[in-house]
Amino acid sequence: MICISLGRTRHSSMMEEHRALAEKGAELVELRVDFMRKRPDIGRLLKDRPTPVVVTCRRKADRGRWFGTEDQRLAILREAIIGGAEYVDLEVDVAGSIRRYGKTKRIVSYHNFDETPLELFDIYQRMAKLDPDVIKIVTMANSPGDNVRMLEMVGAADVPTVGFCMGEMGTISRVLCGRYGSPFTYASFSREREMAPGQLSWAEVRNLFRFDHISERTAVFAVIGDPIAQSKSPLIHNAAYRKLGLNAVYVPIRVPPDRLQESLKELERLQVAGYSVTIPHKEGVLQYAEQMDEATDLMGAANTLFRRGGQWCATNTDAPAAISAIQEGLRKAGSIPDLAARKVLILGAGGAARAVGHGLLQQGAVVTLTNRSRDRGKSLAAELGCQFTSWENRGSETSDVLVNCTAVGMHPNVDETPFEQHWLRDSTLVFDTVYNPEQTLLLKEARNRGCPVVSGVEMFIRQAALQFALFTGYEAPVDYMADTLRRSNAAARTIVSPDQSGGES
Ligand code: NAP
Repeated sequence: MICISLGRTRHSSMMEEHRALAEKGAELVELRVDFMRKRPDIGRLLKDRPTPVVVTCRRKADRGRWFGTEDQRLAILREAIIGGAEYVDLEVDVAGSIRRYGKTKRIVSYHNFDETPLELFDIYQRMAKLDPDVIKIVTMANSPGDNVRMLEMVGAADVPTVGFCMGEMGTISRVLCGRYGSPFTYASFSREREMAPGQLSWAEVRNLFRFDHISERTAVFAVIGDPIAQSKSPLIHNAAYRKLGLNAVYVPIRVPPDRLQESLKELERLQVAGYSVTIPHKEGVLQYAEQMDEATDLMGAANTLFRRGGQWCATNTDAPAAISAIQEGLRKAGSIPDLAARKVLILGAGGAARAVGHGLLQQGAVVTLTNRSRDRGKSLAAELGCQFTSWENRGSETSDVLVNCTAVGMHPNVDETPFEQHWLRDSTLVFDTVYNPEQTLLLKEARNRGCPVVSGVEMFIRQAALQFALFTGYEAPVDYMADTLRRSNAAARTIVSPDQSGGES
């Protein structure tokens, strides 16, 4: 079950939004009465309530907004109990002074906005002595391993325990706590209205991660990187699980650059079955792998870790995805999809350029690489064993295929292009690895010039589809994943109207 936190400054808007949530299927709503501008009228909020509620009145010291005295706050919590609220939230230091009455269930809560203490289980045991129906322990995650300890504590608890971590690193425990027996997790009304650091919206918890379908039998996959919040991988992998009806969930985990090896070790305790790997861990992850294919070994970078025969295997699906996207582009343009002896100019010298370069050279293409930072470009060209040309000279190269592996043109810098339109020949196939937006300025100008084009979405979906097959053993629903990504890119560009923005009244 998902508990949606609702905080409004007026009774009328609180009740109106509560009704709207109920109409959309909400099962449990937390009324954050500390948000109200006037003293909350508990009777009015509880009368004709459309769903069961948790009444919470958080002090400023606990990052709430309560402005009155502590005696007034406790009186409000007692009123909620007498009024028959389904749950009332009692912080650990006041739970002992508020008596059980009627059918109202007591959520005894502990919040720590700084860290996830090592003695989590001791905290739980102290709380268990305060006559709880539900224990709620919410702490700040400062490392991925904090989530592991939290979930283990939830799993070992005798009293039903809602336990998860806050912050960007806490997403995994917010999503997986149900797998360990949490009776519910918390979500915000919308992303703009998060009530605690890193809180996910109801839509994300319900539709993206499908919290209510997660059980101890749910397979867990993840994407690791830093930063990770903007990753589109959870969107398309979870969409594919949903489409195929698989009991699996895919979560983003922010793993700081210096924490990779220890985090992967700690995450073993959650039985994560496979990882997508992104910047800055594509090289470091090879150290953790027990096996890797030849191409990945040669490349020195992997974007996938998967399990085979009890071992971690590393592979790189970026290179085959890029090659397959280019070949499909050639086919559509009426050319033979053979890259041998084709002249290719690669713009960029980062991780994408390395993977695409390796893939193209394996196919026998004649590759020239260019990069804004000369030394980095020369060094990758030497590593790959291909030609190098200076960034200033890139327009004078003639090529059959142009591949943009720089970040130029990526959202929000959509008015930039790494290659002038008049440098393009109309027979050159232009492939832009940037996938947000899909129609970059480079691709628009290339199309206007009559060039065949391939977008980064084609590569992104293909690399994810290959991972999906390695993770699950099933063929990925490629078109559905592509549609999902395109719809999300389009939605992100839509201006949010005031009545959708959900700002505080
Ligand atoms: P990276 O390792 O950080 O490399 C970034 C590259 O972009 C470097 O060559 C950098 O040049 C260049 N660059 C950045 N800003 C520039 C500017 N203003 N002018 C000229 N060059 C600039 O990143 P990456 O992982 O290779 O990713 C690069 C792009 O590939 C991103 O847009 C990413 O979205 C895309 N990508 C797509 C897929 C897919 O599946 N479609 C997969 C991976 C990556 P310097 O060396 O001079 O800084």
